[in-house]
Amino acid sequence: MKQSIAQLIEEDYLVKPQTGKIILNGTGIEIDLPENVMFIDHGINTEWVERHSRDYDPGGTSTLTYSPHENQTVLAQLGRVECPYLIADIFTQGHEEGHVLQNLGQQTKLESEARKLGFKIPLFNKPEVINLEAKARLAFETKNRRIFQEYFDLLENTSAESKESIANVGGLVALAKQYGDHELIRGLYQPVKKGDLKQADAFLSEYQSNLLKHSPKKDKPTTVQRIKSLLCFLTRGND
Ligand SMILES: [Zn+2]
Repeated sequence: MKQSIAQLIEEDYLVKPQTGKIILNGTGIEIDLPENVMFIDHGINTEWVERHSRDYDPGGTSTLTYSPHENQTVLAQLGRVECPYLIADIFTQGHEEGHVLQNLGQQTKLESEARKLGFKIPLFNKPEVINLEAKARLAFETKNRRIFQEYFDLLENTSAESKESIANVGGLVALAKQYGDHELIRGLYQPVKKGDLKQADAFLSEYQSNLLKHSPKKDKPTTVQRIKSLLCFLTRGND
């Protein structure tokens, strides 16, 4: 049964939806939400991720719910599961924020934040990506039911590869701002710039395992944690 936005909010009573001007936790990007949009960042909430992820993905997920019967309200949400390593936590948060920004037609904010940090990402110039943002902007500006429907159809039909590549820019921005290890950022920039999802995941996994090998003083993860962490990267594919 399809739930109403009011029910969705009621069900997650621990978090209050944000409206108006908001600052995203991972990327630090500030956006002005359109007046019919509410946003909830669930933070680490495995139960929520399991409940809302279409293909359960241990890293995290983001959702966009549109309700024409509730004053054209849109609810954007994100949540993630706890990864045993900081790098994975930060990257996943930024990645999900990348989805939220794209879903709300605000990807230029992500592009300019990336540019401020010195990243030039040609992915934002792809026609598929530009069209999606233009349609989203039109839908949120006009609040027209038909245009919203067209936008959601377009979002549904946009390739997963394209959406995931843009989301990865969010992961890169969050790591650059919060973790700031030049070797990590330089290495991750190349695959993110190219939109190479597999290479980005492989780089992060390898970087993380090297970090653990060379830093015996850091908390040694158990085998279960190690596998869980790798899964956080490797199965992020379809979220
Ligand atoms: Zn994703």
